[in-house]
Amino acid sequence: MAAGFSASVNAMYDRAVARMDLAPGLAKKIRVCNATYTVRFGVRLRGAIHTFTGYRSVHSEHMEPVKGGIRYSLAVNQDEVEALAALMTYKCALVETPFGGSKGGLCIDPREWDEHELEQITRRFAYELIKRDMINPAQNVPAPDMGTGEREMAWIVDQYQRMNTTDINGRACVTGKPLNAGGIKGRVEATGRGVQYALREFFRHKDDIAAAKLSGTLDGKRVVVQGLGNVGFHAAKFLHEEDGCRITAIIERDGAIHSEDGLDPEAVQAHIRETGGVKDFPGATYEADGAKLLEAECDILVPAALEGVIHEGNAGMIRAPLIIEAANGPVTSDADRILRQKGTVIIPDMYANAGGVTVSYFEWVKNLSHIRFGRMQRRAEEARHQVLVDELERLSKNREVAWTLSENFKRDYLRGAGELELVRSGLDDTMREAYQSMREVWQGRDDVEDLRTAAFIVSIGRIAASYHAKGL
Ligand code: GLU
Repeated sequence: MAAGFSASVNAMYDRAVARMDLAPGLAKKIRVCNATYTVRFGVRLRGAIHTFTGYRSVHSEHMEPVKGGIRYSLAVNQDEVEALAALMTYKCALVETPFGGSKGGLCIDPREWDEHELEQITRRFAYELIKRDMINPAQNVPAPDMGTGEREMAWIVDQYQRMNTTDINGRACVTGKPLNAGGIKGRVEATGRGVQYALREFFRHKDDIAAAKLSGTLDGKRVVVQGLGNVGFHAAKFLHEEDGCRITAIIERDGAIHSEDGLDPEAVQAHIRETGGVKDFPGATYEADGAKLLEAECDILVPAALEGVIHEGNAGMIRAPLIIEAANGPVTSDADRILRQKGTVIIPDMYANAGGVTVSYFEWVKNLSHIRFGRMQRRAEEARHQVLVDELERLSKNREVAWTLSENFKRDYLRGAGELELVRSGLDDTMREAYQSMREVWQGRDDVEDLRTAAFIVSIGRIAASYHAKGL
């Protein structure tokens, strides 16, 4: 879906606003996209000049910097970038990352170009944005999105630093960088990890599980994942390896595979790398019309690729009682209405995929503080724990029946938290807190029947408060 994405986001926004008491005119001010910059630039490649079109849209600057990824795809257009920028505003407010919302995109099929060509294109795009302060640690901080990753972020930060040689905070101009270029541990898998933490939190609340007509825990739940990109892959891998979920179907570009025994996401990813698709994956049945499997019977459906995959045409056929939106905008507003009427519970995108921007926030703070998390405290923490272990062991010797602390306990207890552990702890805390603020509205108000409306209410309320504090 391209046209209509903004309209779809706005329709869901309006549904929430109708249940709020905002100052006159404020709902519109928050909803509109502040500015979208379009750039067309040429790069000499393969003996000819190629013209590319890129966008950077700023939806809301109620907090700065504004934040949001840069997408590389032929489907990128102004409406899409603006809808995605709006979702960033609501997402950041919901999970309390202190940013406004933005998004960028470049109309390009990254698979058509080799690495060196992509570097030239990316540097040129970055140059155009940097010189207009549309990439800047204090104003606008991009990150990866579909079609981009650590590699592109490394080129962008290098480009920024070449153009701003004395900016001591230059590394904070973009997040999702490789570790050796100012990145943070745990960022690559952060969005998938966030999906896992979101589901874990959902399954801590009996009433919420019952609302989805499910029972028990995540263990043994049948999960269908659409899109095995960075987000879908990590979400599937963690749910499969750590929570006992059965990944019963994986939908990809070339079709879908299905196995009631469960698929191993690592093995499927390796197969895609080798063969270019999911077809012929051993031990699974293949379905050429992949989208059909969105309608498969399962407990949890995880759309983790493009927007608009669940629409008016297929929403009525979706059998999953619980959908978690790992992608941005996978359910259109029409589909949302149909699913709501059916009683399907949807954990909305602005919450479900917020793990990425949350860890981006940690990376930005790390860059601005110029020190890795845990560097000052880790050994002090270990030394203090050692004092307790030594004392317990000394006391145990004075007892008639001596007891000993197991080696496993000592190893786990003595270890001070490093960067990865702190990032996970911060992400887990963020996902729990945001869920609770959302569910309080969902379960607490008679006029709010779904989590998405609840999420919008929390988020818009916070943005409105921030406008109010500014005197607007
Ligand atoms: N592109 C990701 C998103 O849609 C991450 C954005 C960021 O880290 O700024 O949330």
